[in-house]
Amino acid sequence: MRKAILSFLSILLYSQLLFSQKTILYCGKLIDVKTLQVLTEMSIVVQGDQISDIQKGYISPGTGDKIIDLKSVTVMPGLIDCHVHMEDETSAHDFEKNIKLNPADYAFQSVDIAERTLMAGFTTVRDVGGIGVNISLRNAINKGLIKGPKIYAAGIALSSTGGHGDPTNGFRKDLAGNPGPQDGVVNGVDDCIKAVRMRYKEGSDCIKIIATGGVLSLEKDGSGAQMSEEEIRAIVQTAKDYGMRVAAHAHGAEGMKRAIRAGVTSIEHGTFMDDEAIALFKKYGTWYVPTLIAGKSVSDSARKPDYYPQIIAEKALAIGPKMETTFSKAYKAGVKIAFGTDAGVYEHGKNWMEFIYMTESGMPPLEAIRSATASAAELIGISDKTGSIEKGKLADIIAVDGDPAEDIKVMGKVKFVMRAGKVYKSSL
Ligand SMILES: [Zn+2]
Repeated sequence: MRKAILSFLSILLYSQLLFSQKTILYCGKLIDVKTLQVLTEMSIVVQGDQISDIQKGYISPGTGDKIIDLKSVTVMPGLIDCHVHMEDETSAHDFEKNIKLNPADYAFQSVDIAERTLMAGFTTVRDVGGIGVNISLRNAINKGLIKGPKIYAAGIALSSTGGHGDPTNGFRKDLAGNPGPQDGVVNGVDDCIKAVRMRYKEGSDCIKIIATGGVLSLEKDGSGAQMSEEEIRAIVQTAKDYGMRVAAHAHGAEGMKRAIRAGVTSIEHGTFMDDEAIALFKKYGTWYVPTLIAGKSVSDSARKPDYYPQIIAEKALAIGPKMETTFSKAYKAGVKIAFGTDAGVYEHGKNWMEFIYMTESGMPPLEAIRSATASAAELIGISDKTGSIEKGKLADIIAVDGDPAEDIKVMGKVKFVMRAGKVYKSSL
């Protein structure tokens, strides 16, 4: 009996020691994304999944504390991509997948995609639409079954019949059927309300709508409005009931303006944003998620013979090259910008290249990093949990080899990745 009590006490003591054990990160350079300053010689203290302290200098460890030496690299919050599609990745003749792949095929390929994304320093992503496997992927990562970023998933995006998100565009009649809210196809206010409630039931964290035409679908108009303002308003109001925010895909100005006036949280792509749209962005405080790498990537692929069907290649060449000019204009006008890349439209894991295009188009490097950390967290609604290195926030911390304030290309040299206190990459 006495022996049992003693061993019980020793287990208790041991577990208390484990609980109080800290990991201290010595940071040579640390980017403060709130003040846009690069701090030097700092210590971040991590306990469990959270940041418990940040101090100047390299503090002395207590008994049992672990030190991680990041003195030679630049440390910053884990990156957040607000626009990804984790189920799939572009390839030539992509459209055959529509009739060949089962949900399980998408699930298996998403495992590698999730790991690549995390290893590239993206500890959080917002998945803005797929066939619904993105919700299962999120759950598998949350359970620790596979490695990946924390995912906020929209599930299936909502589109109108024949619109950019109608899953049976280009199908012959007997195969096309008549998809409805279940499949993300909505027409009229009642469908819109029902579709949002269905997404909620399926476990979506947010709602994605297709407010205008788009590039990578077999419909001819890449930018025209495809939802009425009344429909979008019904979606936004219903989503609000369930604590969900709405992201709107929009290339054309008219659909973009309807979505902003109807109260969406973000406009994705924003390609043909005009002065009136810019004024509306500012009036409503709407976020702009630029996806410049997607524009580059689709216009590059469109130049490869036979990569896309002709109808898509033409749209890609018209829309892709316009995105950077729009970005420069919107940035100068003071539109709120959050980082998003449309990963999947290009190769997953290269999300960091968006930083190059953003800085080429006039945004200073540290502001680009803020767009992928503090601003992105604000857009998704998770600023209380992540997006900056602050006491009480999740220990989502990465480090790159070099100083991105001087050379933004080092964002592609991620040496260290910690997500929620767990180290996934350490190649120092
Ligand atoms: Zn997208």
